[in-house]
Amino acid sequence: MPTTGFDRRLLVGGEWIETGEWIDVVSPYSGEAVGRVPSAGAAETTRALDAAQSALASPLPAHERASILAAISGLLAGRSEEAARLISAEAGKPMKAARIEAERAASTYVFASVEARKLTGETVPMDASAAGSGKLAFTLRRPVGIVAAISPFNFPLNLVAHKLAPALAAGCPVVLKPASATPLSAIFLAELAEEAGLPPGWLSVLAGPAGEIGDVLVADERVALITFTGSGPVGWDLAARASRKRVRLELGNATPVIVDDGVEIVETATKLAANSFSFAGQSCISVQRIYVLESSYDAFAHALVQATEALRVGDPGLEDTDVGPVIRQSERDRVLDWIRESGGSILTGAELTVDGVLRPTVIARPAREAKVECDEVFGPVVTVSPVASIDEAIERANATRYGLQAGIFTPRIKTALRAAERLEFGGVVVNEAPTFRADQMPYGGVKGSGNTKEGPAWAVREMTEERLVVLAL
Ligand code: NAP
Repeated sequence: MPTTGFDRRLLVGGEWIETGEWIDVVSPYSGEAVGRVPSAGAAETTRALDAAQSALASPLPAHERASILAAISGLLAGRSEEAARLISAEAGKPMKAARIEAERAASTYVFASVEARKLTGETVPMDASAAGSGKLAFTLRRPVGIVAAISPFNFPLNLVAHKLAPALAAGCPVVLKPASATPLSAIFLAELAEEAGLPPGWLSVLAGPAGEIGDVLVADERVALITFTGSGPVGWDLAARASRKRVRLELGNATPVIVDDGVEIVETATKLAANSFSFAGQSCISVQRIYVLESSYDAFAHALVQATEALRVGDPGLEDTDVGPVIRQSERDRVLDWIRESGGSILTGAELTVDGVLRPTVIARPAREAKVECDEVFGPVVTVSPVASIDEAIERANATRYGLQAGIFTPRIKTALRAAERLEFGGVVVNEAPTFRADQMPYGGVKGSGNTKEGPAWAVREMTEERLVVLAL
């Protein structure tokens, strides 16, 4: 049943429901309500899990799962403009970036559809030991069970896709809890999934108090795996409390980039400015810290400021806006505090536009212990610091508890490979901003940034388990 319009419903156990309580979804730019969704709690979560349990008992064959995933992709591609407008309205994401997210989400379902058709195990060379001789053995890949998916506000369509699509490819029903700020995109996806033929129970979407819903998902033994994308404290706490489940975490970063001598300075600075401030820096791999060799530092910092000041700041619904608001006023004010405490010099930004949007901010030479240097800013701020050598740059890039993605711009292949080996991150991007992600890539962090890789091929491995079959010959 379609739920378009201002008031939406939640898909729980195959039915579109209301609960009598509502959550207002508010534009981060104007502060006006852009929709309302029912607020669900423990009872609806248990109902969703009951339905997921029934779905698990009637498995869908791989070819049907693959067809449904391909159909979701097709429907999404056909309605990508509508999806982009929804993302922009609820997340405050500029339309340019929202369109890219909608296109990427469609591709995520395609990649998952392919994975559904090639779920295989391995044969085991049994005669490699005397003990195994006379036996044949192989593994089957089985769905791990019910997947609970918890997603953040910043990519409300594609990060839901990175959980739902591989889970369905693996044969796992999903109970999804999107961020309270951005539930509309997830509900839109649930509509498309239903239209694509996903049977009842395979997907439920619960908006509501995170602690209450989360507690049920942690405590209920039927949940086999929790896939969480969001902030570190919430993620690690879930992992600690759900110690008998697989808890897969995609968390934050304080993304560093190293700029070697000999690169094209204006081109590199322009690219890094775009990737520091796209979606107001609210990507887990927004460029946050730039380390530039001393000999290029002044020219680079100048070009970075010029490129930053050329970005258009304001209403995310306008076609030419590059940088919109951060998700909440309280977050904007926190980012301003971090800027004030940075100990560096402000080269541009650190002020609000007339409509209250924080301007992209470049800070030169912040204190090494400043939050903007060590923690995840998740706002429109980038720091730029001179370094004496690539070794020093690598040491500073690694001086964080995070390890999701890092980048280096260099014309020297040996420098690139050395950095790739020594940067303690899940991914190292050479001669491209480390904000780069294509949806088929293995994507995930080390250290405080998480404990898994997403990208359908990798996520499907996480969401399946191998069952060994041994035959006596
Ligand atoms: P968040 O505050 O941690 O929220 C993420 C999700 O967790 C939301 O759905 C939230 O629900 C839910 N949640 C909060 N408390 C919970 C609890 N006690 N039990 C269960 N669920 C709970 O993060 P965010 O502000 O939305 O997102 C920003 C963070 O996500 C940043 O740190 C960013 O780096 C990270 N991120 C990582 C990746 C990656 O792939 N590595 C991608 C994107 C974002 P409510 O909204 O209802 O509170």
